[in-house]
Amino acid sequence: MSDFQVGFLAAEKADESSHLSMESGVEPEPVKTPSKRHRCAACFKQYKRKDHLIWHMKTSYHSVHQPKCGVCEKHCKSFESLREHLTGPLPKGNCSKMFAEKGCDLCMKIFDSSDAASTHKEACRLPPPVPIATILSDSAGSQNKMSSSFNGCIAADSKAVAMDCEMVGGGSDESVDICARVCLVDDAENLVFHAYVQPASPVTNYRHEVTGLTAEHLQDAMPLEEVQAKIKEILYNGEILGRVRMNSGKARLLVGHDLEHDLESLGLSYPDHLLRDTAKYPPLMKTNLVSHSLKYLTQTYLGYTIQAGIHDPFEDAISAMRLYKRMCAQVHQLEGLAINDTNYHTQSFISVFELKRQRELDKMSPDELFELSRPNYRCWCLDSRTSIQEQSNTNPWGSW
Ligand SMILES: [Zn+2]
Ligand SMILES: [Zn+2]
Ligand SMILES: [Zn+2]
Ligand SMILES: [Zn+2]
Repeated sequence: MSDFQVGFLAAEKADESSHLSMESGVEPEPVKTPSKRHRCAACFKQYKRKDHLIWHMKTSYHSVHQPKCGVCEKHCKSFESLREHLTGPLPKGNCSKMFAEKGCDLCMKIFDSSDAASTHKEACRLPPPVPIATILSDSAGSQNKMSSSFNGCIAADSKAVAMDCEMVGGGSDESVDICARVCLVDDAENLVFHAYVQPASPVTNYRHEVTGLTAEHLQDAMPLEEVQAKIKEILYNGEILGRVRMNSGKARLLVGHDLEHDLESLGLSYPDHLLRDTAKYPPLMKTNLVSHSLKYLTQTYLGYTIQAGIHDPFEDAISAMRLYKRMCAQVHQLEGLAINDTNYHTQSFISVFELKRQRELDKMSPDELFELSRPNYRCWCLDSRTSIQEQSNTNPWGSW
């Protein structure tokens, strides 16, 4: 770490604490504060030195996509930090008061009146999905309830599918995760595919309390190769592999929670740019960038309980899909700066700050510095925009 960075971090600490004391209403000493402070246009942190503000902007990746307080418009790194800002132990005066009156504690939006807020909350809190056992027994006319797999139809225009796997234990210490059950749903929450999967290696623990599985379930289970082929067919959607890797073409987005783990257990891979992982999406992560559980996210953002007993892969897949659609439906102001900005469409987030000279940056106002700043992740609101890739003219998430 350079001297500048060390000095900066110390200064940032000091600045933060004085900022806090100002916010909580403690008057700064009148004699000692004649110098002009430099205030971040996004998170409102204040710096005594302009170069400290510039360094802060270079390292904060502020953007229009960050969760924002509906009262003071402060940008937060995640919904968790926004929740802290509005309801945490250090309430921010007017913001928390307005939020308590007219806010929704699931999506954190603030409405014009408390009536508008309560109408909204009824729609924002979702009912839990129907258990998979009900779906499978409803379709038992054509397929046996205990049959090892279910092949539903997927809507041709479904741009995303969500997947969830249930794992049993393998290896001598039972710690190896083996996929024994998999479920896929489309964006209209239809069950597209469900199968018990033939374990790739011997099962040493069925983890029955969580999976609900016994040896009997896996007796006539589908061979792994068949499961892989079926999932690929759904994901690739008739697109050739080369195009799937380059850009998406007709291939579908894969939604889920900790998808790498699920894909690995299935012996599958899928390009990163087509993954929408609720465990890895920064706005849904803890402030320290550790993943939340799907159970926590579902309770906190959708308002119902999952995984209370035996895990239901259908319920988990639908919950991930609902979280994804909520994030897609966010309206972020991109006018001018983003549609033609390749940083918003690719996985490489080159900082625009690196292209500017220090002298130029020194002359810029906090607002101008913020305009240069770009996120270090791809916001899912871009999935619902018509201008990217080859999406159709209708907004697939318009009803959200
Ligand atoms: Zn900031
Ligand atoms: Zn966005
Ligand atoms: Zn606020
Ligand atoms: Zn809401």
